[in-house]
This record gives sequence, C-alpha cells and structure tokens, in this order.
Amino acid sequence: MRLLIMGAPGTGKGTYAEGIEKHFGIPHISTGEIFREAISQKTPLGILAQSFIDDGHLVPDDVTVQIVRERIQQPDCQNGFVLDGFPRTLNQAENFTRILKELNIQLDLVINLLADEELIIRRITNRRLCSKCGKGYNLITIPPKKEGICDDCGGAIYQRKDDSEEVIRERLEVYHRQTKPLIDYYEAQGNIIHMDGAGEINEVTNVIIAMLEAR
Ligand code: ADP
Ligand code: ZN
Repeated sequence: MRLLIMGAPGTGKGTYAEGIEKHFGIPHISTGEIFREAISQKTPLGILAQSFIDDGHLVPDDVTVQIVRERIQQPDCQNGFVLDGFPRTLNQAENFTRILKELNIQLDLVINLLADEELIIRRITNRRLCSKCGKGYNLITIPPKKEGICDDCGGAIYQRKDDSEEVIRERLEVYHRQTKPLIDYYEAQGNIIHMDGAGEINEVTNVIIAMLEAR
C-alpha cells in the first residue's frame, strides 16, 4: 500500500502516519524527520536544510525530490510506504508522479487531513519531540510521563525551533501558497480522500485505518 498523507502543519500527519506504519507494517517516511535527523548530525544536507526550516520556508525541491527518490527504493519500501510531508509543491508532485512511473509503482491513495487554524496553532505550540527517537508529544494531550524525558527511550524532550508562534504563521502561509494547490492536482488524479484531523489521536487513527482496510 502506497500512501501520501497531506495537510497543513499540525493537522497530525506524522502522528497518524505512525499509526498506519504500526498497523500495516509499512514504513513511515517523513521528509521533515529526515531533515531534522540530518540537522542533528550536522551532515551537509542538514547544514543546507537548517536555514530554510528555521525560517519556516521549504527546502529546495531538487534536494527534497532526490531524497525521496532514494528512500522509496530502499528494501523496506517493497510492500509500500506512507509518505508524510512530501510532496509539498506542485513541482515536487509532478516529479514524484514521474518517479513512480519510472519505478513502475502506483500511488494508492492521498489522505488530506483537515483541521482549523486555531487547533493547529494550539497543537503546534504545545508540540514537543524526543531528541533521540523522534517520538512526538503534546504538553496538553500526550505529555511524557516524566517531564522532559521520553517514555520510550529516555531521550531528552525538546521543542522544534520552527514551532514558535511566529514561524508557524509563516509555515501556514507557505502551506496555503505552495502546498494547498496539490489538493487540486490529486483531485484531478482521482485518488484523494479528505479526513478530519481534529479529534483524539486513537480515534482518528482508527477511523483512518478502518477506511484503509475497507478499500
Ligand atoms: P509540519 O508538517 O508540522 O510542518 P514537517 O516535519 O513535515 O512538519 O516539516 C518541517 C519542515 O521541514 C518544513 O517546514 C520544511 O521546511 C521542511 N520540509 C519538510 N518536508 C518538505 C518538503 N517536501 N519540501 C520542502 N521542505 C520540506
Ligand atoms: Zn525517545
């Protein structure tokens, strides 16, 4: 099963993609996570990506497309994948369509998550991450059991630099300007479904899984 999960920042893409990964045993690929990993390791990719990300802008398309092209050809993607946060521009989407054709694989479904802006901002400002394993937390809805420490791996919990309220506004604008038009692109391909990203995590995850199983 090959899926894309789209939506504005804070609609829950990463969270629900993790649920899909667990349930269906297909890897969750987050371009944002790949960049954050590269930044923390100070690789050339990380150094390049950091300034764009910190300002709430997108990493250049050619870099991003190349990363995804390589990642989806890894052996763990043989039975599918759930891509989170890619494509984010029309140019990325067109390139992705071309790559899929080259690799002779088909995209099964695009899930577009909806949530209102107030909820998005509330979620993002309360969002925290594990610096070691990347697990996501929310200070209000899913706080770590011990303050500042990851439940799963004991790593330190931190706030993303781009999760400040000022940068979120910019990211939302980038979303509206550059990513939202992709909805029409996938509507034209006829394989997009819109789902409510608000609501409790397990509930929404179960609705998405049930929808996927019924297909
Ligand atoms: P969110 O969905 O909450 O914005 P992500 O982890 O998906 O968080 O993305 C974080 C940042 O990483 C983005 O704001 C952007 O700078 C960069 N990024 C992620 N995916 C892409 C992409 N497909 N193209 C360009 N930049 C990307
Ligand atoms: Zn952890």
